[in-house]
Amino acid sequence: MISLKKQAYLLLCAGVLALTACTSDTAADPQGSAVSSLQMMELNGKLEAQPHDPHHGAAYEVFVYSFCDSDGDGTGDLQGLISKLDYIQDLGFDTIWLMPVNPSDTYHKYDVKDYFAIDPQYGTMADMEQLLKETESRHMQVLMDLVLNHTADDHYWFTQAHDYLKELPADWQPSSDYCPYFDYYHFSRERGEGYVPLADTNWFYEARFWSEMPDLNLDSEKVRNEIAEIMRFWLGKGVAGFRLDAVTSYYTNNTAQNTEFLRWLCDTGKKIDPDCYFVGEAWTEMNNYAQLYQSGIDSLFDFAFADSSGIIAGTMKNSYGLDDYAQALVKEEKLYASMNPQYVNAPFYTNHDMGRSAGYYAGDDGKLTKMAQILNVMMPGRVFVYYGEEIGMKGAGKDENKRAPMYWTEDPDAEGMCSGPPDMDEVKMKFPALDEQQTDPLSVYSLVRQALKIRNAFPAIAEGTTEVMEDLCTEETAVILRKDGSHENAMLVFNGASAAEVHTGNQYVQLRAVLTVDDSTVELKDGVLQMPPYSMAVLTEE
Ligand code: CA
Repeated sequence: MISLKKQAYLLLCAGVLALTACTSDTAADPQGSAVSSLQMMELNGKLEAQPHDPHHGAAYEVFVYSFCDSDGDGTGDLQGLISKLDYIQDLGFDTIWLMPVNPSDTYHKYDVKDYFAIDPQYGTMADMEQLLKETESRHMQVLMDLVLNHTADDHYWFTQAHDYLKELPADWQPSSDYCPYFDYYHFSRERGEGYVPLADTNWFYEARFWSEMPDLNLDSEKVRNEIAEIMRFWLGKGVAGFRLDAVTSYYTNNTAQNTEFLRWLCDTGKKIDPDCYFVGEAWTEMNNYAQLYQSGIDSLFDFAFADSSGIIAGTMKNSYGLDDYAQALVKEEKLYASMNPQYVNAPFYTNHDMGRSAGYYAGDDGKLTKMAQILNVMMPGRVFVYYGEEIGMKGAGKDENKRAPMYWTEDPDAEGMCSGPPDMDEVKMKFPALDEQQTDPLSVYSLVRQALKIRNAFPAIAEGTTEVMEDLCTEETAVILRKDGSHENAMLVFNGASAAEVHTGNQYVQLRAVLTVDDSTVELKDGVLQMPPYSMAVLTEE
């Protein structure tokens, strides 16, 4: 059943998206007539975004720190992000995943000092409320990063517990009656695995990532009550859901306990708001994270396809064939559905912890970078794209380099440009800055925007399940059907390094959308599809 809120959302989308589709094409439209004859622009230009399930859209991961600076201090902020909402929406995203915005002493802010406030570097609560209001008026959603494995060591809960233990006589037993926060973390007089010494005491505490990130005691009823209040607070402000950080670390590598906790978390969130959406970061093998779907969580990031060693990059490097890519989709869809029939996959290609994808392919002139983006954007579920990937930014090695300033323009001193994390190395870019790419219909940016446009025009791509046309698949070509029972069925054809002739037959006879990595064309005649190297086509029945 679709809730009333969702129905209203879908109706609104129908109007707004049609409007957006009609008005937003100018951003990437070429200035010369030579380029406007590109088949990709012509054919895809006829597409209009269709209403879709709100959990099956496209999400843009934003590191506010490095995104857009509104006040000239070199650090990105919420007002900067607000000024770029048109950009994000025009690209085809309906959702923003905000990396942590709560007060924190680190630049990345994955150690929260106060779950109910906004870091002053980023702005104020009024700025956050404005962001939520402006996204709502655009029918966009905001997902907040919810970091529950640990807090900052200068969080009030931890400093209170620390002060209490400093004063506690050595022969006394601690009691949460005297200090409720003693119960919030794992303190022990024995040094267990993952424990570190608590300063000025004979105690130890669990801090698996870093001594300044004490692990929360998620068994504590008091902690769970706090978490419920945190969710209530932000859902009340208009946040649509949460990205859950470090899920496998809640109970370190204990899948059964992590599943139980996720079940409690999701049930609690959905009691507050039935449409509340959760996506978990469980950076582990597919068979491990798939188990967590048994909690009822909406989504888990699809790590198997991501990163330089994942299925997408592996397909581009010929470690796998395109037929393997197609079969891997079917395999994971069956696996996830067996754990939670309502699951929504969360495919992504890179994130803030991974080297950027433009660095994955030595000697690539852009074709592999673009084709890989296509393989990601066309995956079912709610697709996530890390800021800057849409222009093929570079950044690898230390984490700071993976979080370099959004490359709006070549001039680092231009308005809006951020200075980046303090310890970042100089990151040399491979592709031009956004403003230059926006004028080029063959840029990485234009390709990603076209890919999202196609995804939004055929909701079966996101909401359907994958059927592989095995007879038509080769290492170099994948042909799949996506059907969801309520939208137009779509045949997706992906082609690799060589031109290919695909006998698509007499059922899927309409060539509706194409993606090419250069100015070559796709032809369909009498049930035979001619695909140039590195291309993709969408065929429909009528
Ligand atoms: Ca700023």
